Amino acid sequence: MKRLSLFVCNLLFIIALPTSAQRILSPDRLTYVDVRVDDGKALYSVGYRKVMKKDTVDVEMLEPSPLGLYSNIADFSRHLVLKSTEAKRIHNDYRLWQSKQSHVVNDYEQRCFTFETSRGKTFTVEFRVGNGDVAYRYLIPMQGETAAIVVTGEATGFTLPKFTTTFLSPQSTSMVGWKRTKPSYEEEYTPDEPLNTRSRYGQGYTFPCLFHVGERGWLQISETGLDGRYCGSHLSDAVDGRYLIAFPMEGENNGFGSTGAQFGLPGQTPWRTITLGQTLKPIVESTITWDVVEQLYEPNFTYKGGRSTWSWIIWQDPSIVYDDQVKFIDLAASLGWEYCLIDGGWETNIGRQRMEQLFTYCRQKGIHPFVWYNSNGGWNDAPQCAKNRMYSPIVRKQEMKWLRHHGVKGIKVDFFAGDKQETIKLYEQILSDANDYDIQVIFHGCTLPRGWERMYPNYVSSEAVLASENLVFSQHMDDMEGFNATLHPFCRNAVGSMEFGGTVLQRRLNRGNNGGTTRRVSDVFELGTAIAFQSSVQNFALTPMNLDPQVTPAFEIDFMRQVPTLWDETRLIDGYPGKYIVLARRNADRWYVCALNGQKQPLELNLVLPMLAGQKVTWLSDGADGKSPSAQQVTLDKKGTFRTSIPAECAVVLY
Ligand code: CA
Repeated sequence: MKRLSLFVCNLLFIIALPTSAQRILSPDRLTYVDVRVDDGKALYSVGYRKVMKKDTVDVEMLEPSPLGLYSNIADFSRHLVLKSTEAKRIHNDYRLWQSKQSHVVNDYEQRCFTFETSRGKTFTVEFRVGNGDVAYRYLIPMQGETAAIVVTGEATGFTLPKFTTTFLSPQSTSMVGWKRTKPSYEEEYTPDEPLNTRSRYGQGYTFPCLFHVGERGWLQISETGLDGRYCGSHLSDAVDGRYLIAFPMEGENNGFGSTGAQFGLPGQTPWRTITLGQTLKPIVESTITWDVVEQLYEPNFTYKGGRSTWSWIIWQDPSIVYDDQVKFIDLAASLGWEYCLIDGGWETNIGRQRMEQLFTYCRQKGIHPFVWYNSNGGWNDAPQCAKNRMYSPIVRKQEMKWLRHHGVKGIKVDFFAGDKQETIKLYEQILSDANDYDIQVIFHGCTLPRGWERMYPNYVSSEAVLASENLVFSQHMDDMEGFNATLHPFCRNAVGSMEFGGTVLQRRLNRGNNGGTTRRVSDVFELGTAIAFQSSVQNFALTPMNLDPQVTPAFEIDFMRQVPTLWDETRLIDGYPGKYIVLARRNADRWYVCALNGQKQPLELNLVLPMLAGQKVTWLSDGADGKSPSAQQVTLDKKGTFRTSIPAECAVVLY
């Protein structure tokens, strides 16, 4: 009896469907959302249906959770009556070259619930339920003659079962950190933390938020479809397992601008997304972030992905001078790469005239430059130049005209001001103007992208992670590299392109390879992150020294010469966030499989890799001691069986 009740409580929570609840089922009928009104409040719960021998049972992943929002025209959170529902099947078939899957085809069940308040104001909750994915947003119609709304907050919540553990990154307080540039989604994750733990700064957690719902499985919450008509949201701290949607903090953007959102009616909020399943596979492979959004303008130019050199990451500020930039343009050319990023400080240290000479040199070498800009403006103290070029539309367009005239196809804009609607508008304005000048855009010191790869066709990628610069700044981050690199594909990088700027092949992270911090993970581990981390343009941390076979074995450079940055397909084979990951990605007809062991102990793997079945592939490993990297040829059997032992903080790559 005791065993039975434990089983029911922990694994299969069978709920009786209240008569008033309406159920939405995914096209495969295995993911469900129940919506009901209880005491004038709209509630939803989410789960999947587990097929047993004779029966199908509900596995609840999100307990009844509140819907609704607060505004200057009505309180859309209580005294609600359900007026009508509408159902429709939505078929997606679209191209997405900048992310984890180039051609997406899937179906969603759409259901719209229209509610009325006691004062006759109406709003609609639109749900879309796919196989393993749920999204919803609020649609507000005109209310009589009222054609504009200010949303001051939301009732939206997410209630997790109480035995859930969390994989979350805390939201920073505002106007703190280096030159008062936070929040910028650069906080450390804590794995497997108990529910209801107070967040590090008491400001809740940034998206995406990953939850381990015990033996029931995994669930991720995020946001997509954010544009200049709303603010970026995050999750509050949890009370009794319930997280609420939280708006930006008062102090963001130097205290300037509202914490709420203002838009015209009819209008809508961004989507909140929930991806769930018994395993982590739906979370790593999901495309919901892009499935429910639309392209907002036509690309003005055929934008391309590729590989880029980046002097600043290892050689730092002193390298932003003419002669060093020539060395990194030469390095990109000798590797057969496409891009070179000229980072912050160029306006003072190189000057506009000599930058034009560098642009000419790039052209001669067949390399496209990316040029760094400060987003400022008046919202932090970041001193790097070029400053004051990106926040004013007049100056911004002059600058972009100059860049286009000299054949520059990309910019990296850094140091934004948080998640207020004012700042989200700036992202959108930069992207839209850049498209008019054939320029693609990388953001750093910034918010999480929310569907932007599809919405803005010249958008490349965002940092919004404790990225490679921290490996240079602090030994702690090198010591934690294995943990973080095996966490990001399940969290941050699962919902958006991640500009990490990695693959360090020097042992020491300074110009001479003789000082600074020390890399802990192996060479093949670093090569594997080029597959595990996704961004359509990758700024890799290679330096001219890596071309010396005394420093870096030639096979490693051969791998980096041909590694793609664009993927047609992504498959999670195995893994656990922060411990290890086995991930397969396909470019055209070639599969790349990386197995990263982020732990301080060896990992035994017994894998089946159907995509490599019967094939002869190159096998990169670090040797039994973890310090003897080599490349061998291996032919997998007809099933694709692959057994290996990976030493601590080492990896295997197959391609
Ligand atoms: Ca940064």
